[in-house]
This record gives sequence, C-alpha cells and structure tokens, in this order.
Amino acid sequence: MMNSVVDGLARTFPYVFVDGELVEAADACVTVHANALSYGTGTFEGIRAFSGDDGLHLLSAPEHFSRLQQSALILGLTLRYSMEQLLDASVRLLQKNDVREDAYLRPLLVLNEETLHVRTIGLTSRFSIAVHPMGLNYINPKGVRCIVSTWRRAPDLAIPSRAKTTGGYIGPALAKSEALAAGADEAIMLNMEGHVAEATTSNIFLRFGSRWMTPPPYDDILPGITRTHVMRLIEELMGEPVVECSIDRSQLYVADEMLLCGTAALVVPVIAVDGRPIGPGVPGSRTLELQQTLMSICRRQDSRHAEWLTNVPGRVGVGF
Ligand code: PMP
Repeated sequence: MMNSVVDGLARTFPYVFVDGELVEAADACVTVHANALSYGTGTFEGIRAFSGDDGLHLLSAPEHFSRLQQSALILGLTLRYSMEQLLDASVRLLQKNDVREDAYLRPLLVLNEETLHVRTIGLTSRFSIAVHPMGLNYINPKGVRCIVSTWRRAPDLAIPSRAKTTGGYIGPALAKSEALAAGADEAIMLNMEGHVAEATTSNIFLRFGSRWMTPPPYDDILPGITRTHVMRLIEELMGEPVVECSIDRSQLYVADEMLLCGTAALVVPVIAVDGRPIGPGVPGSRTLELQQTLMSICRRQDSRHAEWLTNVPGRVGVGF
C-alpha cells in the first residue's frame, strides 16, 4: 500500500483533459523547458472514483476541486475553471475513457511556460486531468509499519502546507524512501517544532482510551478531505470525541490504536512505529470498522453520506 499511486503506469486510459479539450494521452506533453519541471511550480489533486452496483461515483469531488482552487490562490496561480466546469470535465473524461472500474483522477495545474524565471506570477499555466485505474491494492487491512522520519514536514512559511504543491513532495518522497530503506512501509513526519504532522501522503489519528487525537492544521499538515470524513465517522459510529491538538513523538509509542487516512488508502491501520507495536501490534478494531464503513459508503452499499458522492451519469458498475 501507499507506494506510488500508479505503479509504473502499467495500464492507463487513453484520453486526458488538457486546457478544455479531451486529447489522446500521447499528445498531453510538456517540454523539458517547462518552468514547473525545474522548480515544482504547480499544484494538483487526487480524486477517487468508485465503481458500485449503481454505477461510478466520485468521492468528495467538489471538496478536492475547492482545495485545488485554494492551492492556486495561495501559489498565485490562476485556475480558469468554475466548480461546475471542473466537475463536468471530470465526468466527460470518465465517460470518454469508458471507465467502469475504480479509478483515480489527477487534476494538475502547472506553469508550463518555457522560462528560467523563478516565480509563480505572470507565467502561462496548463490545466489537465488524467485518469488512472486504481483498485483496492492501496486499501490495506493488515496494517503498516512506520518509522518516524528524520526529514521534517516543511513549515507553512517555507512551503505552504495548506496548498497541495508539486514541489512540496520532495520532503515526503525523501521520508518515504527512508522508511522503505529501513524495511518499513511508511514514514511519519514531525514538523519543525517536533510535533507529529502527518505521514507522507496521509493524515494520522491516534486513539487513547476512548478518545481520539489528530494534529491540527497549524501543525503544518495538509488538511485532508478523508480526515474530515474520518472525524465525522468516529463521532457517528463510536460517539467518541476527536481532539485536534499537537501530538508529541513519545505519544506515538503509547497509543492504543493508530490509523492513516487519505484518498488513495482511505483508512489504513498502523501496527508499529519505530519497531514498537501499537496496542497489541495488530490493526485496531475501531480502525477496521472505520475502514469498512468508509469503503461501504464509497461503494454505496451503505446509504449514509450519499452527499460525499457525485454520480457519473451513463456509467454502470462492475456486475452489469
Ligand atoms: N497529507 C498529504 C501530504 C497528502 O498528500 C494527502 C493526500 N492528498 C493527505 C494528507 C490526505 O489528504 P486527502 O484525504 O485529501 O487525500
């Protein structure tokens, strides 16, 4: 779980949305001179589409596009599409590619101007949405082993943490590499103050007794959309409070349950940190309940929170 989103792009879909047109993927190119390639001047999103008995549904698409709009504002980039146009582009892209399986949309706004200038304003940008197959291989019921990375989560004043920036993933990539080289699955990153921030591409929740904790946005996290769903489900399913508060490193070692959450992985149990077992060293029962419930909601097997899903008209799901 949680390796690259599309390992090696073994299989992909033929059409990509680029600046208002649906074009063949081979024609959706930038040159080596593109500003974003040297400087990471761009922002992106990841949106899941789930196939269920009653068709294909996007999970939290408006929330992802509104975060993209906010990221663009923070960076000083211009996203020239309304929410309606972004949702329409996503639906048309899925239809054109005849997507009937679980998939992942990658909206991407980058400075493609061929210039050596290091800046975000006054340069031309390109907006695209690509789509990749994404099955359940990222949704891991067995749990992951984490290390605490020596790489820190960049502070908001260095790389804006509320913006999902392309350049901002150097730190997480180094942290993930450190975890893999150490024989672990995933890295937990601390912020510059030494507080727990998040994992490389997911947010973190800890359970102590019957109380949950998760780091607040001011501890340099990307405030995840799955994070808000998990907070809601914890309250609804378990009636347990979730406290947003700074978390020290040593608290990681004494939590009763721990989970990571994000678009690709949904909810993943953490079973060890730095070689120390979390609880009895197996996935927490409440974590598994959250994982199952969220999955059932995404597949429309659970009728709760239908408002989290956007139907893709004209598509039918697996089994038809
Ligand atoms: N933090 C980081 C750094 C991420 O890349 C992601 C994945 N987008 C998350 C948290 C989780 O966010 P979301 O639930 O919106 O996918």
